[in-house]
Amino acid sequence: MITIALSKGRIFDETLPMLEAAGVRPAENPETSRKLILSTNRDDVRLVIVRASDTPTYVQYGAAEIGIAGKDVLLEHGGEGLYQPLDLGIAKCRLMVAVRKGFDYRKAIQQGARLRVATKYMYTAREHFAAKGVHVDLIKLYGSMELAPLVGLADAIVDLVSTGGTLKANNLEAVEEIRAISSRLIVNQAALKLKGDVVQPLLDAFSAAVSRG
Ligand code: ATP
Ligand code: MG
Repeated sequence: MITIALSKGRIFDETLPMLEAAGVRPAENPETSRKLILSTNRDDVRLVIVRASDTPTYVQYGAAEIGIAGKDVLLEHGGEGLYQPLDLGIAKCRLMVAVRKGFDYRKAIQQGARLRVATKYMYTAREHFAAKGVHVDLIKLYGSMELAPLVGLADAIVDLVSTGGTLKANNLEAVEEIRAISSRLIVNQAALKLKGDVVQPLLDAFSAAVSRG
């Protein structure tokens, strides 16, 4: 049995056509079913529905052989025990620094100010600002980062941006890109060796689906 871990919402929606191309069709829709384990048309493949940020953990420990996770999540996780053989080019967005409109980010940095930055990406944010030599106090949040600069919790946020609509609606602006983000296929390192006969054809099918666009 091969278990594929993925999260509901955009990752599931955008992965579905690639699963289909790989000959895997879930028996149920996770948006309406409350089941966390979904069987498929193939009796050797099942899906498990996990929180997006938990996907690498399931694959790292071999509870799932394969997973699909955002690069943002993989950077925070660290990637231990995982191969990341394929960029699926889905769930594309950018990890950005954003501030309240009118806050002079460049000037604050030039002056060597200590910035308060709210984010759920503690590791990636720390690396980014350290590489730039910017002093920061990071404040861990779990969601709605956009609120933090508006109520004086932080000077800046590090968050994912796609259209910029949420920033705009909250009078914020992106001032720096940290990196482009998309979702990756991840594979448990031991599983590729031990179950390569089933895992490798699935990887090849995903890879072909990506090439076709
Ligand atoms: P949760 O909602 O459970 O806190 P999450 O916000 O990380 O978790 P999703 O919103 O489903 O879960 O995001 C899953 C992945 O999709 C993220 O890790 C990221 O890589 C990508 N993503 C997040 N927001 C966007 C967006 N606005 N546009 C495109 N891709 C996005
Ligand atoms: Mg989300």
